[in-house]
Amino acid sequence: MAATDVPVTAVSMDTIVALCKRRGFIYPSSDVYGGLASAWDYGPLGAALKNRLRDAWWREMTQLHDNIVGIDAAILMHPRVWEASGHVENFTDPLIDCRSCKARFRADHVDDPNGKCPQCGKPELTPARQFNLMFRTHLGPVQDAGSVVYLRPETAQGSYVNFKNVLQSSRLKVPFGIAQVGKAFRNEITTKSFIFRTCEFEQMEMQYFVHPSDDTKWFEHWKERRFQYYLDLGIDPENLRFHQHGPDELAHYARDAYDIRYRFPFGWQELEGIHNRTDFDLKRHMEFAGKDLTYLDESTRERYVPFIIETAVGLTRSVLMALVDGYEEEQVGGERRVVLRFHPRVAPITVGVFPLVKKDGLAERAREIEAELRESFATFYDQGGAIGRRYRRQDEIGTPYCVTIDYDTMADDTVTLRFRDSMEQERVGRRELVARLHEATRGYRRPGAG
Ligand code: ATP
Repeated sequence: MAATDVPVTAVSMDTIVALCKRRGFIYPSSDVYGGLASAWDYGPLGAALKNRLRDAWWREMTQLHDNIVGIDAAILMHPRVWEASGHVENFTDPLIDCRSCKARFRADHVDDPNGKCPQCGKPELTPARQFNLMFRTHLGPVQDAGSVVYLRPETAQGSYVNFKNVLQSSRLKVPFGIAQVGKAFRNEITTKSFIFRTCEFEQMEMQYFVHPSDDTKWFEHWKERRFQYYLDLGIDPENLRFHQHGPDELAHYARDAYDIRYRFPFGWQELEGIHNRTDFDLKRHMEFAGKDLTYLDESTRERYVPFIIETAVGLTRSVLMALVDGYEEEQVGGERRVVLRFHPRVAPITVGVFPLVKKDGLAERAREIEAELRESFATFYDQGGAIGRRYRRQDEIGTPYCVTIDYDTMADDTVTLRFRDSMEQERVGRRELVARLHEATRGYRRPGAG
């Protein structure tokens, strides 16, 4: 194994953005027209990474529980939903304009709102005014007040308004959860930092309905479980921490809230929120819709409005976290090696398959083996260039395993299995290969993880 003799370097956003474009993770939206501020398109590897992060969350939050179900609510909802939720009234950011250069800023992102414009430096900032972040549009051909609808700014409300539907159709009992993944839209004023904050993004949210006297217990449970989730995904614990919301940060509906923060290259920022939303949401929908959303406990005959513990994470923000956390550069045998240390469960490609050379039937045999692996894993076949370069190309996109077919394969039906992180190689029989890859994925530990 080659020596790894230079320590990890902290990655810059410019490096991540350039890698994403070069290797097909993420491109500017409408690139041929010069891009659109704050909108991004996911390329072949980015779409795969995003889907796999979504699948990992879905497995963790639904499949592994017998009392959490998934739904997929519409983006467009009845406009009264957003009155009941408080978004029409409260979902605002304080906005400051510069009279001189016309730049706009969130007041809480400007160091001195009475001072100079962060862009042009002139003392021409306006007082802050409230700006609603919901995108408004109209349903149907008539653009009058009665046709106003909003693009949902969160997926959560779709779960609340379906509380009774889910309860009645799935015979669940409190405590139970509703999970959802989907697009959300916010007309954000500050949308820098690549895909960290965008106007169109995806969320993965789970609403857990509990007895009001159990709220603290379940809040603590989900807080710990969600933090552990990232450790199990191989995220560096040094880059994760909790932040409890102070009284001035708590949303109008929340009794308690913690962020799981991640250390991005531009600082510690929220990745996920765990919120005790009390009975606020269901009570408001009872009031605004005029429907009974209480729960009857059959065993005690107690009727009550459940409290909701919410876990809410950005899927697109998780993609950025995975890229930043996985990125490492090292010197190997005097050459720079770029590695994305994705957990094998979320890597866009799981196995690269290479014939050592194209001739003597090796390429055909490699194609056969790739076809076998394809049934179980995302594979990539590559027969171009020196084998070392082929390994490096897979390292740079985070492929955890590479399989090389050589002359011994033709003789004894074994292949070389090469591991991305350690660069170690082992000889594996073709028949054992699928089982060996599953085993390696189950036992995956990121280098340096405790
Ligand atoms: P922030 O304080 O960053 O604006 P928030 O507290 O308003 O976020 P929530 O409403 O709790 O966010 O949304 C849950 C999650 O959705 C966030 O933790 C974040 O990961 C993600 N998210 C929120 N807004 C955006 C956005 N504009 N772009 C990308 N992801 C977002």
